[in-house]
Amino acid sequence: DIDHVYEALMNTALDIDLLEPESPLDDVWIKEVLKKSGMKYKRTQVKQDKVRENKDAVRRPEADPAFLIPRWPVVTIMGHVDHGKTTLLDKLRKTQVAAMEAGGITQHIGAFLVSLPSGEKITFLDTPGHAAFSAMRARGAHLTDIIILVVAAEDGIMKQTVESIQHAQNAQVPIILAINKCDKPEADPERVKKELLTYDVVCEEYGGDIQAVHISALKGDNLMALVEATVALAEILELRGDPTGLVEAIVVESRTDKGKGPVTTAIIKRGTLRKGAVLVAGKSWAKVRLLFDENGKTINDACPSMPVEIIGWKDLPSAGDEILEVESEQRAREVVDWRKYAEEQEKLKEDSKVIGTKRKEHQDSHRRVREKLGSLTWKEREFIKYQEIKKQNIRHKEKTEDLNTLPIIIKGDVDGSVEAILNIIDTYDATDECKLDLIHFGVGDINENDINLAETFNGVVYGFSVNASKVIQQLAVKKGVRIKLHNIIYRLVEDLQEELSGKLTPSM
Ligand code: GDP
Repeated sequence: DIDHVYEALMNTALDIDLLEPESPLDDVWIKEVLKKSGMKYKRTQVKQDKVRENKDAVRRPEADPAFLIPRWPVVTIMGHVDHGKTTLLDKLRKTQVAAMEAGGITQHIGAFLVSLPSGEKITFLDTPGHAAFSAMRARGAHLTDIIILVVAAEDGIMKQTVESIQHAQNAQVPIILAINKCDKPEADPERVKKELLTYDVVCEEYGGDIQAVHISALKGDNLMALVEATVALAEILELRGDPTGLVEAIVVESRTDKGKGPVTTAIIKRGTLRKGAVLVAGKSWAKVRLLFDENGKTINDACPSMPVEIIGWKDLPSAGDEILEVESEQRAREVVDWRKYAEEQEKLKEDSKVIGTKRKEHQDSHRRVREKLGSLTWKEREFIKYQEIKKQNIRHKEKTEDLNTLPIIIKGDVDGSVEAILNIIDTYDATDECKLDLIHFGVGDINENDINLAETFNGVVYGFSVNASKVIQQLAVKKGVRIKLHNIIYRLVEDLQEELSGKLTPSM
Protein backbone atom coordinates (compact mmCIF):
# COMPACT_ATOMS: atom_id res chain seq x y z
CA ASP A 1 0.00 0.00 0.00
CA ILE A 2 0.97 3.56 -0.45
CA ASP A 3 2.20 4.17 3.08
CA HIS A 4 4.39 1.12 3.06
CA VAL A 5 6.06 2.17 -0.15
CA TYR A 6 6.35 5.71 1.12
CA GLU A 7 8.14 4.45 4.21
CA ALA A 8 10.35 2.24 2.13
CA LEU A 9 11.21 5.20 -0.06
CA MET A 10 12.10 7.39 2.86
CA ASN A 11 14.54 4.76 4.02
CA THR A 12 15.90 4.16 0.60
CA ALA A 13 18.59 6.35 -0.74
CA LEU A 14 20.48 3.87 -2.83
CA ASP A 15 17.79 1.66 -4.13
CA ILE A 16 15.38 3.97 -5.84
CA ASP A 17 15.66 1.62 -8.78
CA LEU A 18 13.64 -0.87 -6.75
CA LEU A 19 10.63 1.01 -7.91
CA GLU A 20 11.66 1.17 -11.47
CA PRO A 21 8.22 1.32 -13.06
CA GLU A 22 6.95 -1.58 -15.06
CA SER A 23 4.39 0.50 -16.87
CA PRO A 24 3.63 4.19 -17.36
CA LEU A 25 0.84 3.66 -14.89
CA ASP A 26 3.35 2.81 -12.18
CA ASP A 27 5.00 6.07 -13.05
CA VAL A 28 1.86 7.98 -12.14
CA TRP A 29 1.55 6.09 -8.95
CA ILE A 30 5.16 6.42 -7.90
CA LYS A 31 5.13 10.11 -8.70
CA GLU A 32 2.22 10.50 -6.33
CA VAL A 33 4.08 8.73 -3.59
CA LEU A 34 7.14 10.83 -4.22
CA LYS A 35 5.07 13.99 -4.20
CA LYS A 36 3.94 13.03 -0.75
CA SER A 37 7.47 12.37 0.40
CA GLY A 38 8.75 15.60 -1.09
CA MET A 39 11.39 13.71 -3.02
CA LYS A 40 12.51 14.28 -6.55
CA TYR A 41 11.78 11.62 -9.07
CA LYS A 42 15.21 10.51 -10.11
CA ARG A 43 16.10 7.21 -11.64
CA THR A 44 19.72 6.95 -10.66
CA GLN A 45 21.04 3.64 -9.61
CA VAL A 46 24.02 3.36 -7.34
CA LYS A 47 25.63 -0.01 -7.52
CA GLN A 48 25.76 -1.46 -4.03
CA ASP A 49 28.85 -3.40 -4.89
CA LYS A 50 30.72 -0.20 -5.56
CA VAL A 51 29.76 1.19 -2.21
CA ARG A 52 30.56 -2.07 -0.51
CA GLU A 53 34.07 -1.92 -1.85
CA ASN A 54 34.68 1.18 0.19
CA LYS A 55 32.66 0.45 3.27
CA ASP A 56 32.82 -3.24 4.03
CA ALA A 57 35.83 -5.08 5.37
CA VAL A 58 37.06 -7.66 2.91
CA ARG A 59 39.63 -10.42 2.80
CA ARG A 60 43.10 -9.44 1.71
CA PRO A 61 44.45 -10.77 -1.58
CA GLU A 62 46.29 -14.08 -1.50
CA ALA A 63 49.60 -13.85 0.34
CA ASP A 64 52.99 -14.06 -1.29
CA PRO A 65 54.04 -17.73 -0.91
CA ALA A 66 57.28 -16.45 0.59
CA PHE A 67 55.41 -15.41 3.74
CA LEU A 68 53.76 -18.77 4.23
CA ILE A 69 54.82 -21.15 6.95
CA PRO A 70 53.68 -24.71 7.68
CA ARG A 71 50.54 -25.06 9.77
CA TRP A 72 48.72 -28.04 11.25
CA PRO A 73 45.42 -29.41 9.88
CA VAL A 74 41.90 -28.44 10.87
CA VAL A 75 39.75 -31.57 10.94
CA THR A 76 35.98 -32.06 10.89
CA ILE A 77 34.43 -35.35 11.94
CA MET A 78 31.41 -36.34 9.89
CA GLY A 79 29.18 -39.34 9.49
CA HIS A 80 25.76 -40.82 10.03
CA VAL A 81 23.96 -40.23 13.31
CA ASP A 82 24.83 -42.76 16.01
CA HIS A 83 27.92 -43.96 14.20
CA GLY A 84 30.06 -42.56 17.01
CA LYS A 85 31.17 -39.00 16.17
CA THR A 86 30.53 -37.62 19.63
CA THR A 87 32.14 -40.58 21.33
CA LEU A 88 35.20 -40.22 19.14
CA LEU A 89 35.50 -36.48 19.80
CA ASP A 90 35.08 -37.04 23.53
CA LYS A 91 37.76 -39.68 23.55
CA LEU A 92 40.15 -37.53 21.55
CA ARG A 93 39.53 -34.55 23.81
CA LYS A 94 39.96 -36.57 26.98
CA THR A 95 43.09 -38.25 25.69
CA GLN A 96 44.46 -34.83 25.13
CA VAL A 97 43.59 -33.61 28.58
CA ALA A 98 44.99 -36.79 30.12
CA ALA A 99 48.20 -36.30 28.21
CA MET A 100 48.58 -32.90 29.79
CA GLU A 101 48.52 -32.28 33.51
CA ALA A 102 45.86 -34.06 35.50
CA GLY A 103 42.59 -32.35 36.15
CA GLY A 104 42.27 -30.40 32.94
CA ILE A 105 38.68 -29.32 32.49
CA THR A 106 37.12 -30.47 29.28
CA GLN A 107 34.97 -27.66 28.18
CA HIS A 108 33.01 -27.69 24.97
CA ILE A 109 33.98 -24.57 23.07
CA GLY A 110 33.52 -25.74 19.50
CA ALA A 111 37.07 -26.78 18.74
CA PHE A 112 40.06 -28.31 20.44
CA LEU A 113 43.66 -29.04 19.81
CA VAL A 114 45.37 -32.40 20.04
CA SER A 115 49.14 -32.36 20.50
CA LEU A 116 51.13 -35.49 19.80
CA PRO A 117 54.29 -36.41 21.69
CA SER A 118 56.12 -35.82 18.41
CA GLY A 119 55.08 -32.19 18.56
CA GLU A 120 52.54 -32.51 15.75
CA LYS A 121 49.19 -30.89 16.32
CA ILE A 122 45.65 -31.28 14.99
CA THR A 123 42.73 -28.92 15.47
CA PHE A 124 39.42 -30.74 15.72
CA LEU A 125 36.15 -28.98 15.05
CA ASP A 126 33.77 -30.04 17.74
CA THR A 127 30.58 -28.65 16.26
CA PRO A 128 27.66 -30.70 14.98
CA GLY A 129 29.18 -31.75 11.69
CA HIS A 130 26.85 -31.12 8.79
CA ALA A 131 25.10 -27.97 9.88
CA ALA A 132 28.26 -26.12 10.81
CA PHE A 133 30.07 -27.33 7.74
CA SER A 134 27.25 -26.28 5.44
CA ALA A 135 26.90 -22.92 7.16
CA MET A 136 30.57 -22.19 6.63
CA ARG A 137 30.50 -23.39 3.08
CA ALA A 138 27.46 -21.24 2.38
CA ARG A 139 29.43 -18.24 3.57
CA GLY A 140 32.33 -19.21 1.38
CA ALA A 141 34.48 -19.99 4.37
CA HIS A 142 36.84 -22.82 3.74
CA LEU A 143 38.02 -24.02 7.09
CA THR A 144 38.32 -27.79 7.05
CA ASP A 145 41.49 -29.38 5.67
CA ILE A 146 40.56 -32.99 6.34
CA ILE A 147 37.29 -34.81 6.97
CA ILE A 148 37.30 -37.89 9.16
CA LEU A 149 34.38 -39.96 7.93
CA VAL A 150 33.03 -42.13 10.73
CA VAL A 151 31.19 -45.25 9.56
CA ALA A 152 29.91 -47.81 12.03
CA ALA A 153 31.28 -51.16 10.97
CA GLU A 154 28.06 -53.02 11.69
CA ASP A 155 25.75 -50.49 10.00
CA GLY A 156 27.73 -49.59 6.92
CA ILE A 157 26.84 -46.74 4.57
CA MET A 158 23.78 -44.77 5.59
CA LYS A 159 22.05 -41.61 4.34
CA GLN A 160 24.24 -39.11 6.17
CA THR A 161 27.35 -41.10 5.28
CA VAL A 162 26.56 -40.38 1.66
CA GLU A 163 25.83 -36.72 2.43
CA SER A 164 29.15 -36.41 4.22
CA ILE A 165 30.95 -37.86 1.24
CA GLN A 166 29.18 -35.40 -1.03
CA HIS A 167 30.13 -32.50 1.24
CA ALA A 168 33.74 -33.58 1.16
CA GLN A 169 33.79 -34.10 -2.58
CA ASN A 170 32.07 -30.80 -3.35
CA ALA A 171 34.45 -28.90 -1.12
CA GLN A 172 37.37 -30.97 -2.39
CA VAL A 173 38.39 -31.89 1.13
CA PRO A 174 40.25 -35.20 1.47
CA ILE A 175 38.75 -37.97 3.59
CA ILE A 176 40.16 -40.34 6.16
CA LEU A 177 37.90 -43.27 6.86
CA ALA A 178 37.36 -44.18 10.51
CA ILE A 179 35.56 -47.51 10.62
CA ASN A 180 34.08 -47.43 14.10
CA LYS A 181 32.56 -49.91 16.51
CA CYS A 182 35.07 -52.54 15.46
CA ASP A 183 34.76 -53.97 18.98
CA LYS A 184 31.32 -55.28 18.08
CA PRO A 185 31.16 -58.94 17.03
CA GLU A 186 28.98 -58.15 14.03
CA ALA A 187 31.44 -55.52 12.77
CA ASP A 188 32.36 -55.97 9.13
CA PRO A 189 34.90 -53.29 8.14
CA GLU A 190 35.73 -54.92 4.81
CA ARG A 191 32.12 -54.63 3.70
CA VAL A 192 32.20 -50.90 4.53
CA LYS A 193 35.25 -50.37 2.34
CA LYS A 194 33.71 -52.30 -0.51
CA GLU A 195 30.44 -50.38 -0.30
CA LEU A 196 32.32 -47.11 -0.37
CA LEU A 197 33.74 -47.90 -3.80
CA THR A 198 30.33 -47.03 -5.23
CA TYR A 199 30.77 -43.51 -3.91
CA ASP A 200 34.20 -43.02 -5.35
CA VAL A 201 35.79 -43.41 -1.95
CA VAL A 202 38.57 -45.84 -2.78
CA CYS A 203 40.67 -47.13 0.10
CA GLU A 204 44.34 -47.87 -0.23
CA GLU A 205 43.89 -51.61 -0.45
CA TYR A 206 41.66 -51.12 -3.49
CA GLY A 207 44.31 -49.02 -5.16
CA GLY A 208 42.96 -45.66 -4.02
CA ASP A 209 44.49 -43.10 -1.67
CA ILE A 210 41.94 -43.10 1.16
CA GLN A 211 43.40 -44.28 4.46
CA ALA A 212 41.06 -46.48 6.48
CA VAL A 213 41.55 -47.00 10.20
CA HIS A 214 39.63 -49.60 12.22
CA ILE A 215 38.73 -48.10 15.57
CA SER A 216 36.54 -48.39 18.59
CA ALA A 217 35.71 -44.92 19.80
CA LEU A 218 34.02 -46.39 22.83
CA LYS A 219 37.03 -48.38 23.97
CA GLY A 220 39.58 -45.95 22.62
CA ASP A 221 41.11 -48.63 20.39
CA ASN A 222 43.43 -47.54 17.63
CA LEU A 223 42.79 -43.82 18.06
CA MET A 224 46.50 -43.15 17.88
CA ALA A 225 46.57 -44.78 14.45
CA LEU A 226 43.75 -42.48 13.36
CA VAL A 227 45.61 -39.43 14.62
CA GLU A 228 48.79 -40.55 12.91
CA ALA A 229 46.95 -41.12 9.64
CA THR A 230 45.66 -37.56 9.93
CA VAL A 231 49.14 -36.16 10.49
CA ALA A 232 50.46 -38.18 7.55
CA LEU A 233 47.76 -36.82 5.25
CA ALA A 234 48.40 -33.28 6.47
CA GLU A 235 52.05 -33.68 5.53
CA ILE A 236 51.10 -34.69 2.01
CA LEU A 237 48.75 -31.71 1.77
CA GLU A 238 51.64 -29.36 2.69
CA LEU A 239 49.34 -27.01 4.54
CA ARG A 240 50.64 -23.48 4.79
CA GLY A 241 49.51 -20.36 6.60
CA ASP A 242 50.39 -16.69 6.60
CA PRO A 243 51.16 -15.54 10.15
CA THR A 244 51.58 -11.88 9.17
CA GLY A 245 49.23 -9.00 8.54
CA LEU A 246 45.61 -8.42 9.48
CA VAL A 247 43.94 -11.45 11.03
CA GLU A 248 41.34 -13.53 9.23
CA ALA A 249 39.47 -16.19 11.21
CA ILE A 250 36.24 -18.14 11.29
CA VAL A 251 33.77 -18.29 14.18
CA VAL A 252 33.06 -21.93 15.04
CA GLU A 253 31.02 -21.31 18.14
CA SER A 254 29.46 -18.36 19.82
CA ARG A 255 27.86 -18.05 23.24
CA THR A 256 27.22 -15.69 26.12
CA ASP A 257 29.25 -16.57 29.16
CA LYS A 258 28.00 -15.47 32.57
CA GLY A 259 31.31 -13.97 33.54
CA LYS A 260 32.95 -13.15 30.25
CA GLY A 261 29.98 -11.87 28.26
CA PRO A 262 29.82 -12.59 24.53
CA VAL A 263 32.46 -15.19 23.69
CA THR A 264 33.40 -16.75 20.40
CA THR A 265 35.61 -19.65 19.58
CA ALA A 266 37.40 -19.00 16.35
CA ILE A 267 39.96 -20.72 14.25
CA ILE A 268 42.65 -18.48 12.87
CA LYS A 269 43.04 -18.64 9.13
CA ARG A 270 45.59 -15.94 8.63
CA GLY A 271 47.69 -13.49 10.61
CA THR A 272 48.46 -13.68 14.32
CA LEU A 273 45.75 -12.62 16.73
CA ARG A 274 46.84 -10.59 19.75
CA LYS A 275 45.14 -8.73 22.54
CA GLY A 276 44.01 -5.26 21.51
CA ALA A 277 43.24 -6.25 17.94
CA VAL A 278 40.03 -4.81 16.52
CA LEU A 279 37.85 -7.39 14.77
CA VAL A 280 34.60 -7.43 12.86
CA ALA A 281 32.40 -10.51 12.37
CA GLY A 282 28.93 -10.40 10.92
CA LYS A 283 27.29 -7.33 12.41
CA SER A 284 29.41 -7.30 15.54
CA TRP A 285 32.86 -6.05 16.38
CA ALA A 286 35.37 -6.57 19.16
CA LYS A 287 38.39 -5.01 20.69
CA VAL A 288 40.10 -8.16 21.89
CA ARG A 289 40.41 -8.06 25.68
CA LEU A 290 41.42 -11.63 26.37
CA LEU A 291 42.36 -14.78 24.50
CA PHE A 292 41.95 -18.29 25.90
CA ASP A 293 42.97 -21.67 24.62
CA GLU A 294 40.52 -24.58 24.74
CA ASN A 295 41.61 -25.45 28.26
CA GLY A 296 40.63 -22.04 29.53
CA LYS A 297 44.19 -20.79 29.86
CA THR A 298 44.91 -17.25 28.79
CA ILE A 299 47.22 -16.95 25.83
CA ASN A 300 48.92 -13.97 24.27
CA ASP A 301 48.62 -14.80 20.62
CA ALA A 302 47.06 -17.27 18.24
CA CYS A 303 48.51 -18.26 14.89
CA PRO A 304 46.91 -19.96 11.84
CA SER A 305 45.03 -23.23 12.55
CA MET A 306 44.76 -22.43 16.24
CA PRO A 307 41.39 -22.52 17.99
CA VAL A 308 41.02 -19.59 20.34
CA GLU A 309 38.37 -18.09 22.58
CA ILE A 310 37.99 -14.39 21.99
CA ILE A 311 36.61 -12.00 24.62
CA GLY A 312 35.65 -8.42 23.88
CA TRP A 313 32.68 -8.62 21.50
CA LYS A 314 30.02 -5.93 21.56
CA ASP A 315 27.39 -8.36 20.24
CA LEU A 316 27.38 -12.05 19.58
CA PRO A 317 28.55 -13.07 16.11
CA SER A 318 27.24 -16.34 14.62
CA ALA A 319 28.99 -19.62 14.00
CA GLY A 320 30.34 -19.59 10.50
CA ASP A 321 30.88 -15.81 10.45
CA GLU A 322 34.14 -14.65 9.06
CA ILE A 323 36.29 -12.58 11.39
CA LEU A 324 38.34 -9.83 9.83
CA GLU A 325 40.77 -7.57 11.64
CA VAL A 326 40.47 -3.87 10.84
CA GLU A 327 42.76 -0.92 11.51
CA SER A 328 40.76 0.93 14.14
CA GLU A 329 37.64 0.95 16.28
CA GLN A 330 36.24 3.70 14.10
CA ARG A 331 36.68 1.52 11.05
CA ALA A 332 35.02 -1.40 12.85
CA ARG A 333 31.98 0.74 13.67
CA GLU A 334 31.83 1.93 10.10
CA VAL A 335 31.91 -1.64 8.76
CA VAL A 336 29.25 -2.86 11.18
CA ASP A 337 27.02 0.13 10.43
CA TRP A 338 27.43 -0.51 6.76
CA ARG A 339 26.54 -4.18 7.13
CA LYS A 340 23.45 -3.40 9.16
CA TYR A 341 22.42 -0.87 6.57
CA ALA A 342 23.08 -3.28 3.72
CA GLU A 343 20.97 -5.92 5.45
CA GLU A 344 18.10 -3.49 5.82
CA GLN A 345 18.38 -2.70 2.16
CA GLU A 346 18.13 -6.38 1.36
CA LYS A 347 15.01 -6.67 3.50
CA LEU A 348 13.45 -3.65 1.86
CA LYS A 349 14.24 -5.12 -1.49
CA GLU A 350 12.40 -8.28 -0.50
CA ASP A 351 9.46 -6.26 0.83
CA SER A 352 9.27 -4.23 -2.34
CA LYS A 353 9.29 -7.39 -4.37
CA VAL A 354 6.27 -8.62 -2.43
CA ILE A 355 4.50 -5.30 -2.88
CA GLY A 356 5.42 -5.37 -6.53
CA THR A 357 3.93 -8.81 -7.03
CA LYS A 358 0.72 -7.86 -5.26
CA ARG A 359 0.30 -4.77 -7.32
CA LYS A 360 0.95 -6.70 -10.45
CA GLU A 361 -1.78 -9.13 -9.53
CA HIS A 362 -4.21 -6.27 -9.02
CA GLN A 363 -3.23 -4.70 -12.27
CA ASP A 364 -3.71 -7.98 -14.05
CA SER A 365 -7.17 -8.47 -12.65
CA HIS A 366 -8.16 -4.99 -13.73
CA ARG A 367 -6.61 -5.52 -17.09
CA ARG A 368 -8.79 -8.59 -17.50
CA VAL A 369 -11.88 -6.61 -16.58
CA ARG A 370 -10.96 -3.90 -19.01
CA GLU A 371 -10.31 -6.38 -21.76
CA LYS A 372 -13.73 -7.83 -21.18
CA LEU A 373 -15.29 -4.42 -21.42
CA GLY A 374 -12.73 -3.13 -23.88
CA SER A 375 -14.71 -3.69 -27.04
CA LEU A 376 -17.62 -1.63 -25.78
CA THR A 377 -17.88 2.12 -25.68
CA TRP A 378 -18.34 3.86 -22.39
CA LYS A 379 -21.97 4.48 -23.15
CA GLU A 380 -22.63 0.83 -23.93
CA ARG A 381 -20.83 -0.29 -20.81
CA GLU A 382 -22.73 2.11 -18.65
CA PHE A 383 -25.97 1.02 -20.25
CA ILE A 384 -25.26 -2.64 -19.59
CA LYS A 385 -24.31 -1.88 -16.04
CA TYR A 386 -27.36 0.20 -15.55
CA GLN A 387 -29.53 -2.66 -16.77
CA GLU A 388 -27.88 -5.06 -14.38
CA ILE A 389 -28.19 -2.63 -11.59
CA LYS A 390 -31.86 -2.16 -12.22
CA LYS A 391 -32.34 -5.90 -11.96
CA GLN A 392 -30.46 -6.29 -8.73
CA ASN A 393 -31.44 -3.01 -7.24
CA ILE A 394 -33.31 -3.97 -4.14
CA ARG A 395 -31.52 -7.15 -3.32
CA HIS A 396 -28.18 -5.43 -3.58
CA LYS A 397 -29.26 -2.52 -1.49
CA GLU A 398 -30.17 -4.82 1.36
CA LYS A 399 -27.00 -6.74 0.97
CA THR A 400 -24.72 -3.75 0.98
CA GLU A 401 -26.25 -2.37 4.11
CA ASP A 402 -25.89 -5.75 5.73
CA LEU A 403 -22.28 -6.28 4.89
CA ASN A 404 -20.71 -3.06 5.93
CA THR A 405 -19.89 -2.15 2.41
CA LEU A 406 -19.08 1.25 1.11
CA PRO A 407 -20.41 1.61 -2.43
CA ILE A 408 -18.27 3.99 -4.45
CA ILE A 409 -18.05 5.47 -7.89
CA ILE A 410 -14.66 6.57 -9.16
CA LYS A 411 -14.17 9.11 -11.87
CA GLY A 412 -10.75 10.27 -13.04
CA ASP A 413 -9.23 12.59 -15.58
CA VAL A 414 -7.35 9.90 -17.51
CA ASP A 415 -7.32 6.12 -17.72
CA GLY A 416 -4.01 6.01 -15.85
CA SER A 417 -5.21 7.84 -12.80
CA VAL A 418 -8.39 5.77 -12.60
CA GLU A 419 -6.40 2.59 -12.78
CA ALA A 420 -3.96 3.83 -10.18
CA ILE A 421 -6.84 4.43 -7.80
CA LEU A 422 -8.34 1.05 -8.62
CA ASN A 423 -5.05 -0.59 -7.80
CA ILE A 424 -4.98 0.98 -4.41
CA ILE A 425 -8.61 0.19 -3.78
CA ASP A 426 -7.89 -3.43 -4.55
CA THR A 427 -5.49 -3.59 -1.64
CA TYR A 428 -8.26 -2.36 0.66
CA ASP A 429 -10.54 -4.99 -0.68
CA ALA A 430 -8.30 -7.51 0.97
CA THR A 431 -9.46 -6.49 4.43
CA ASP A 432 -12.71 -8.07 5.44
CA GLU A 433 -13.81 -5.60 8.07
CA CYS A 434 -15.51 -3.29 5.63
CA LYS A 435 -15.72 -3.85 1.92
CA LEU A 436 -15.42 -1.27 -0.76
CA ASP A 437 -17.94 -1.90 -3.45
CA LEU A 438 -16.89 -0.38 -6.71
CA ILE A 439 -20.17 0.33 -8.48
CA HIS A 440 -18.76 2.14 -11.40
CA PHE A 441 -15.56 3.74 -12.65
CA GLY A 442 -14.73 5.86 -15.60
CA VAL A 443 -12.99 8.79 -17.20
CA GLY A 444 -14.50 12.27 -17.30
CA ASP A 445 -16.37 14.78 -15.19
CA ILE A 446 -19.05 13.67 -12.76
CA ASN A 447 -22.31 13.32 -14.66
CA GLU A 448 -25.95 12.64 -14.04
CA ASN A 449 -25.53 8.92 -14.46
CA ASP A 450 -22.94 8.86 -11.65
CA ILE A 451 -25.31 10.62 -9.33
CA ASN A 452 -28.16 8.27 -10.22
CA LEU A 453 -25.99 5.25 -9.57
CA ALA A 454 -24.83 6.66 -6.26
CA GLU A 455 -28.40 7.29 -5.25
CA THR A 456 -29.42 3.77 -6.15
CA PHE A 457 -26.64 2.22 -4.12
CA ASN A 458 -26.44 4.76 -1.40
CA GLY A 459 -22.84 5.34 -2.45
CA VAL A 460 -20.27 8.10 -2.64
CA VAL A 461 -18.90 9.61 -5.84
CA TYR A 462 -15.14 10.16 -5.89
CA GLY A 463 -13.51 12.31 -8.50
CA PHE A 464 -9.84 12.64 -9.19
CA SER A 465 -8.82 15.76 -11.11
CA VAL A 466 -12.30 16.08 -12.56
CA ASN A 467 -15.12 18.58 -12.11
CA ALA A 468 -18.72 18.46 -11.07
CA SER A 469 -20.77 21.21 -12.64
CA LYS A 470 -23.19 23.39 -10.65
CA VAL A 471 -26.13 21.50 -12.13
CA ILE A 472 -24.65 18.16 -11.08
CA GLN A 473 -23.85 19.42 -7.60
CA GLN A 474 -27.39 20.64 -7.13
CA LEU A 475 -28.69 17.30 -8.35
CA ALA A 476 -26.44 15.53 -5.85
CA VAL A 477 -27.68 17.64 -2.97
CA LYS A 478 -31.25 16.98 -4.03
CA LYS A 479 -30.67 13.23 -4.09
CA GLY A 480 -28.59 13.16 -0.95
CA VAL A 481 -25.47 11.96 -2.80
CA ARG A 482 -22.05 13.04 -1.63
CA ILE A 483 -19.43 14.04 -4.20
CA LYS A 484 -15.79 14.10 -3.13
CA LEU A 485 -13.26 15.72 -5.39
CA HIS A 486 -9.52 15.35 -5.00
CA ASN A 487 -6.42 16.26 -6.94
CA ILE A 488 -3.96 14.08 -5.07
CA ILE A 489 -4.36 10.34 -5.07
CA TYR A 490 -3.20 9.71 -1.56
CA ARG A 491 -5.66 12.31 -0.22
CA LEU A 492 -8.41 10.54 -2.06
CA VAL A 493 -7.26 7.27 -0.57
CA GLU A 494 -7.10 8.75 2.91
CA ASP A 495 -10.60 10.06 2.44
CA LEU A 496 -11.71 6.58 1.40
CA GLN A 497 -10.12 5.11 4.49
CA GLU A 498 -11.94 7.59 6.67
CA GLU A 499 -15.20 6.73 4.98
CA LEU A 500 -14.51 3.08 5.57
CA SER A 501 -13.74 3.46 9.23
CA GLY A 502 -16.82 5.67 9.58
CA LYS A 503 -18.86 2.87 8.08
CA LEU A 504 -17.33 0.43 10.44
CA THR A 505 -18.03 2.03 13.78
CA PRO A 506 -21.80 2.51 13.96
CA SER A 507 -22.69 -1.08 13.19
CA MET A 508 -20.25 -2.59 15.67
P1 GDP B 1 26.98 -39.75 16.95
O1 GDP B 1 25.52 -39.57 16.79
O2 GDP B 1 27.65 -40.09 15.64
O3 GDP B 1 27.68 -38.64 17.66
O4 GDP B 1 27.17 -41.08 17.81
P2 GDP B 1 27.51 -41.25 19.37
O5 GDP B 1 28.94 -40.93 19.61
O6 GDP B 1 26.50 -40.52 20.15
O7 GDP B 1 27.35 -42.81 19.52
C1 GDP B 1 26.11 -43.46 19.37
C2 GDP B 1 26.07 -44.71 20.19
O8 GDP B 1 27.07 -45.62 19.74
C3 GDP B 1 26.37 -44.47 21.66
O9 GDP B 1 25.55 -45.30 22.42
C4 GDP B 1 27.81 -44.89 21.82
O10 GDP B 1 28.11 -45.34 23.10
C5 GDP B 1 27.91 -45.98 20.81
N1 GDP B 1 29.27 -46.12 20.30
C6 GDP B 1 30.04 -45.14 19.80
N2 GDP B 1 31.24 -45.63 19.44
C7 GDP B 1 31.21 -46.96 19.71
C8 GDP B 1 32.17 -48.03 19.57
O11 GDP B 1 33.29 -47.85 19.09
N3 GDP B 1 31.75 -49.26 19.94
C9 GDP B 1 30.52 -49.50 20.45
N4 GDP B 1 30.22 -50.74 20.80
N5 GDP B 1 29.61 -48.53 20.61
C10 GDP B 1 29.95 -47.27 20.25
